[in-house]
Amino acid sequence: MKYDIAVIGGGPAGMIAAGRAAQCGARVVLIERNCNLGQKLLLTGKGRCNITNAEYDLRRFVEQFGDKGKFLYSALHAFGVQDTIQFFKQRGVPTKVERGNRVFPVSDKAADVQRVLVDYLHETGVSTIKNATVKSLVKSGSRIDKLRLAEAELKASRYIVCTGGLSYPSTGSRGDGMRWANHLGHTLIPPQPALVPLIVEEPWIKDLQGLSLKNVRISVYQDNQKKDERFGEALFTHEGMSGPIILDMSQSIGNLLNGPVSLYIDLKPALDHSVLDTRLQRDLLEDGSKMFKNSLYKLLPKKLIPVIIRLSGIDPAKKAGDITREERKRLLHLLKRFKLQVRGLAGFENAIITAGGISLKEINPQTLCSRLIENLYFAGEVIDLDGPTGGYNLQICWSTGYLAGENAAHA
Ligand SMILES: Cc1cc2nc3c(=O)[nH]c(=O)nc-3n(C[C@H](O)[C@H](O)[C@H](O)COP(=O)(O)OP(=O)(O)OC[C@H]3O[C@@H](n4cnc5c(N)ncnc54)[C@H](O)[C@@H]3O)c2cc1C
Repeated sequence: MKYDIAVIGGGPAGMIAAGRAAQCGARVVLIERNCNLGQKLLLTGKGRCNITNAEYDLRRFVEQFGDKGKFLYSALHAFGVQDTIQFFKQRGVPTKVERGNRVFPVSDKAADVQRVLVDYLHETGVSTIKNATVKSLVKSGSRIDKLRLAEAELKASRYIVCTGGLSYPSTGSRGDGMRWANHLGHTLIPPQPALVPLIVEEPWIKDLQGLSLKNVRISVYQDNQKKDERFGEALFTHEGMSGPIILDMSQSIGNLLNGPVSLYIDLKPALDHSVLDTRLQRDLLEDGSKMFKNSLYKLLPKKLIPVIIRLSGIDPAKKAGDITREERKRLLHLLKRFKLQVRGLAGFENAIITAGGISLKEINPQTLCSRLIENLYFAGEVIDLDGPTGGYNLQICWSTGYLAGENAAHA
């Protein structure tokens, strides 16, 4: 069968692109390497899927993507934040807005988001070929003539590449589309892991693995100079730190690694030094007859207490009431300036997204069609766009996927 459109990659961008193209009347085939569609989608938002960000001001939304953001105006006009929320709501997945305008399904299940997209493909009559890896796109003149699978070839009038980036390669995203585009003459902005956890020097960090800190302030220092600071949520991992504020600072931290970089965590940002000192004195007095190691439970999460005790250098068996002023000051310092030495950034295996990709200069933002090859379109993370955490990256997939699908159908 000859298709009007072949969509390569069954992630969020590919599923929306295929569904929208079919809705516009095209005969569409979607080809996916895995046996399931949306494998990475299931991991998003720790399995809850932060589907978009309720930043309804278009200008402020695109600002999150820096200078490249203006590329997104047409895509966001075609299918914006409210359209995304409506799309899922109409299909039985209402959403809620959490801290930082993060939008999640009320059910807290990424699987519900995936199910809606798979249903959308059925509803619109998209043919899907799973367990099939596209090997290459074959060009003839200024057009793509066909695509090659392991043991077959497939022809369509137009092709939409939605193969994602290079992060979490275990989910199927291995940079294939970026390589093909480059081979076909497109400029590739070198892909880099982005929104990536940090690795630290302290070996005891593994004792804190899984501990989430809700309201902390983290400052980044290079050579005793403050370079960045964020307030919000962070998470300890087996080898370092992750969580929204760390991921969002990861790019700027990466740029500082030509010198020693330290993180200082203020574990109690709502209390200044003197208020926290008074609080400490009170807690230690109230628990005066207890051993020091059993005394910080009112102030700190359970997992953090043994680490703070160890780092304080105070005898854990000492009575809380016998802690000296000097020892209390050391404790205070630890709570306000909990220090970690950054060793480096985790790689693509653990990066939430890939920065870099197919250059925006060679893609028409109004159609998402290649400026070099007349029947080739791109959508999603394969394009050189990357935003912060908070649902921005998936919104880009919905918006660019929709616009690419619609334009490929009407071309
Ligand atoms: C752990 C994690 C959590 C995240 N959480 C969030 C979040 O909550 N909110 C948010 O906005 N973003 C989040 N992201 C980012 C978001 O998941 C991605 O931006 C998004 O999935 C990119 O979608 P895509 O369709 O462009 O590519 P992908 O989702 O990477 O899909 C590409 C698909 O193409 C297929 N493919 C690749 N090459 C071939 C080939 N040669 N032949 C056939 N098929 C191929 C792959 O198997 C894959 O299924 C998260 C990412 C990770 C890793």
